[in-house]
Amino acid sequence: MENVIIIGTGCAGYTAAIYTARANLSPLLLSGTQPGGQLTTTTEVENFPGFPQGIMGPELMMNMQSQAEKFGARIAWASVESVEKRADGTFLLKAGEESFEAKTVIIATGAAPRHLGLPNEKQLIGHGLTSCATCDGAFYRDVPVAVIGGGDSACEEAGFLTRFASKVYLIHRREELRASKIMADRALANPKIEPVWNSGVTEYLTDDKGEMRAVEITNLVTGEKSELDVACVFVAIGHVPNSAFLGDLVDKDENGYILQNPGRTSTKTPGLFAAGDVADHFYRQAITAAGQGCAAALEAERFLSEHE
Ligand code: NAP
Repeated sequence: MENVIIIGTGCAGYTAAIYTARANLSPLLLSGTQPGGQLTTTTEVENFPGFPQGIMGPELMMNMQSQAEKFGARIAWASVESVEKRADGTFLLKAGEESFEAKTVIIATGAAPRHLGLPNEKQLIGHGLTSCATCDGAFYRDVPVAVIGGGDSACEEAGFLTRFASKVYLIHRREELRASKIMADRALANPKIEPVWNSGVTEYLTDDKGEMRAVEITNLVTGEKSELDVACVFVAIGHVPNSAFLGDLVDKDENGYILQNPGRTSTKTPGLFAAGDVADHFYRQAITAAGQGCAAALEAERFLSEHE
């Protein structure tokens, strides 16, 4: 029986592991299908405190991993399919043929940015295709870029990108933004943002180095195709929190984000905590996920000492 199982090895998971390991709880991390989480898909991280020269996303995650292991955290590859709370208050986790038992569980499974599903998008991530303007916007100075989407995220990302880019195309599949009025008005009033209405991106076009150089746009009303030269595409068509496997153990909002108890990382199930992007659609930053991982570890530690 484990004291703590942490599901997910992104910033929230590793931070929870560092704290629970230093508290002598010998946590077990289950890494899931994307070990290292979303930062392993980015290039340079310039906004994580403590790295004034920046650090590559995968290197930051490897550092977190070795810091957690140094204090006794163990890592196993397992993609958890279900979590069950048993009558004695402990948890049973199933992952394929394997099962795990724990007194407390920290869910740090993150959220996956939604993508369009175009053929070459996997190779292009980090080479002119991203979902995070805060992370990558500063790399694209004085060049045109595009944002895909019409929600608050798309408007926010587009506005942020105008600090760097020469022009920001806001490509939306309808001719009305989904974003809140204030965000939409602000985006449309910005002279650097040019909306491209009723349009879908149907192809990412690359240069001979494999970097993004343009997008093929299809007008969804007329069917007409055209090309827009852009150095980077920011996809903002929503995120999908990785929470489906939890069933009724947690309450979720309409988009699947886990609802924590007010001001805490605990959930409606005692002993089950949630940290990072699986519970936070608002900040979605590495450092805020790490902060929640720390909070979940402290709460789990307190829960164990109160129940033993
Ligand atoms: P969202 O509100 O779900 O908007 C997603 C956008 O992407 C929509 O415009 C949608 O088009 C478009 N889209 C979805 N699938 C698409 C596809 N396959 N191809 C092309 N376009 C597609 O997501 P979000 O903007 O990430 O916001 C999520 C939540 O966070 C919202 O509740 C939002 O209010 C909140 N948020 C708040 C703030 C803030 O207040 N500062 C900032 C960011 C996010 P349609 O409109 O046609 O459906």
